[in-house]
Amino acid sequence: MVDKPSSKEEEYFKKLELERMKKAEDERLAKMEAAEKERLRELHFMKCPKCGMDLMEVQYQGVTLDRCVSCEGTWFDKGEMEQLVEGKESGLAAKILSIFR
Ligand SMILES: [Zn+2]
Repeated sequence: MVDKPSSKEEEYFKKLELERMKKAEDERLAKMEAAEKERLRELHFMKCPKCGMDLMEVQYQGVTLDRCVSCEGTWFDKGEMEQLVEGKESGLAAKILSIFR
């Protein structure tokens, strides 16, 4: 005679199986998210956030900025605006920077 597992045992194994499936699903989603982030990064790298065209690097007062070849918008990476204003506490750039502080 084969012992039939008790309902508590069945519940326990079902719970373990559910936890295993949830963990596998979380891992699958995390991998998808990482792949999606990488895909978006590659898609948007050096593209204008306003019109989507290519950005090119330009030198402005010793700082490398990204300028759109189409709409001519100019984009700052983190710290570039501060570099531009450094040592110039008056002037337009300093006034613009003070808005973001
Ligand atoms: Zn643009």
